[in-house]
Amino acid sequence: MVDLAVIGAGLSGCALVAALQRRGWKGSILLLEAGRGPGGRCATRRRREDDRWRLDHGSPTLSFTQAPQGELNDLIAGLQGSDVIRPDDAPVVGVDHLGRQVPSPDHLLLSGPRWRGTPTMATVAEALLAHGGEAVEARFGERITTLRHDGSVWHLTGGHHARALVLSGTLLAHPRSLAMLGWQHVPLREAVAVGFDPQLDAALHQIAGLDASVRWNLMLELPKVSSNHLPRQIWLTAQAQERFGVERLVLHPQQDQRLGLVVHGLDDGAVITPDSQPELLRRHEQQLMEALSDLVQPWSALSNALAQARSLGVMRWGAAQPLHQGLSADLQWCSEARVGFCGDWIAGQGFGMAEGALQSALNLAERIACFSIAET
Ligand SMILES: Cc1cc2nc3c(=O)[nH]c(=O)nc-3n(C[C@H](O)[C@H](O)[C@H](O)COP(=O)(O)OP(=O)(O)OC[C@H]3O[C@@H](n4cnc5c(N)ncnc54)[C@H](O)[C@@H]3O)c2cc1C
Repeated sequence: MVDLAVIGAGLSGCALVAALQRRGWKGSILLLEAGRGPGGRCATRRRREDDRWRLDHGSPTLSFTQAPQGELNDLIAGLQGSDVIRPDDAPVVGVDHLGRQVPSPDHLLLSGPRWRGTPTMATVAEALLAHGGEAVEARFGERITTLRHDGSVWHLTGGHHARALVLSGTLLAHPRSLAMLGWQHVPLREAVAVGFDPQLDAALHQIAGLDASVRWNLMLELPKVSSNHLPRQIWLTAQAQERFGVERLVLHPQQDQRLGLVVHGLDDGAVITPDSQPELLRRHEQQLMEALSDLVQPWSALSNALAQARSLGVMRWGAAQPLHQGLSADLQWCSEARVGFCGDWIAGQGFGMAEGALQSALNLAERIACFSIAET
């Protein structure tokens, strides 16, 4: 039995355990992650047969709407001081619907300061997790599919038991999982009877109304390309996004001058189920490959290298970016059921981006630290 189980080792889950440690929280923590390592949507794709290859296939950067303040500033300054992140001032440009280079379009993700993980984005979550200290046991490759609450203890897939629980993603709490994963029930709703914790009832009601966009990210390996004059991100204008179904291209130069290229493909609304997914992956790969030659025209080095591009497949980000509204911050901690939420889908500054994910973790750590789980 642990004091706290945290599901998800993305930015917010890892920042939460680091923040609890900084606050001197004494409880034991079990961090459970479905993926092979920490990072979540700020993870890095590696290849077994090629240990020099690294590709930031989700978020290429930590975006902020404004210079971080207070505890968030301390966190960023600490990561920068230990060279886990560096300011991301690499050029960002735009491309229009006729394939012409233009200034980068306005976008919230480009509106304020940005930082990059060094050498890769996954380093950020790895470093935060290391700050969690010895009280944290992290387990990877464990997808939690069932939750049970007996009135005081949480019981999770894999025989894990905890006095309190935090979900850093919406998977176990949102009806979208039913179609996507073929589940019969929303696990968190099933675990706690309606009325046991009115805060949780209100939170689940809000979560059911949340929406998120899907991304189909095509990952490519290009041969050695001189990347000196190449931008880091190429954003499509609204008209170009409409025409090509692509949000942006992200370039990831490798140590040996090969180039990683991620094409962030937009969703076309097709229903994703375990049965439809293989065909959808094939279709998006083909469409994104076809769009590329128009989109890289202004950069001859890229255009020339495209003929030798090798596809490393498409990654589907099921809830790439939360849309419209988030879970109210006052419902982040439901005290009766001892369940909390963090992630970029919590309403507030930096909603839908790295800033919001980190801030939500700091806010939740404050609530949990005040609530002494071990004593109750
Ligand atoms: C393609 C893409 C581009 C983006 N670009 C930018 C950008 O330019 N700038 C920016 O600031 N942000 C960007 N973002 C958003 C940014 O990546 C997120 O805001 C941030 O990574 C969210 O962190 P998180 O911890 O909230 O969630 P996540 O990273 O999603 O972490 C949740 C973790 O929980 C795990 N998990 C969920 N359910 C379970 C379960 N049942 N069992 C076990 N594990 C589970 C998941 O595997 C995941 O690792 C982008 C995102 C995507 C997908």
